Amino acid sequence: MTQIQSALTTVHASLKEGVQLVAVSKTKPVELLLEAYEAGQRDFGENKVQEMALKAENMPKDIRWHMIGHVQTNKIKYMAPFVHMVHGVDREKVLRELDKHAKKVDRVINCLLQVHIAQEETKFGWSIAELEEVLPGLTAFANIKVCGLMGMASNTDDKDQISKEFSDLNDFFTAHATKQDWDTLSIGMSGDYTVAMEYGATHVRIGSAIFGARTYTP
Ligand SMILES: *Cc1c(COP(=O)(O)O)cnc(C)c1O
Repeated sequence: MTQIQSALTTVHASLKEGVQLVAVSKTKPVELLLEAYEAGQRDFGENKVQEMALKAENMPKDIRWHMIGHVQTNKIKYMAPFVHMVHGVDREKVLRELDKHAKKVDRVINCLLQVHIAQEETKFGWSIAELEEVLPGLTAFANIKVCGLMGMASNTDDKDQISKEFSDLNDFFTAHATKQDWDTLSIGMSGDYTVAMEYGATHVRIGSAIFGARTYTP
């Protein structure tokens, strides 16, 4: 077993039953993704459209590709034909453009609405109050299926703070899930997924705990 495969096994063993693992493979080469694939992993998360498209071309076709990063609308056309789920939908323009490009390729694209729950200014997403106003308009997009919500907690060691952020999001999720037909709450990364699973995570997005630290080349 390779290092990645044993890390994957460890992560899997720590997941609550029914929680889906999205293996976040951004910046990592195809050879390393294939190690995870050979161990049975089928859901991969990337945060750059072009990188995801290139990997999708060079990897087995039964992989489900999750776009977890900030969406630039001019890149949507490159992922519309194959993306499984877009987690970071954070503004109306992304909804409109996703719907338009999904229609062109005759698909319905799964999406998650990104909610801003962290204290940092830099994280994207609607506030819960803003989202209340967005929900009624969603039915206008025939080629999008909104499956639920995505959120990122503050980057802090304060577990109470993280719990509060996930808890608030889970409250909003459960209040609307039945009416909106939502089944997906994508919260939790390597550092906080155990907390996220206490607050209803159905999908966790885990990168460094599987693939090791990322190295960014300029
Ligand atoms: C990179 C990234 C992750 C994974 O982060 P790790 O800390 O490496 O697990 C999860 N979600 C989003 C949106 C990311 O950009």
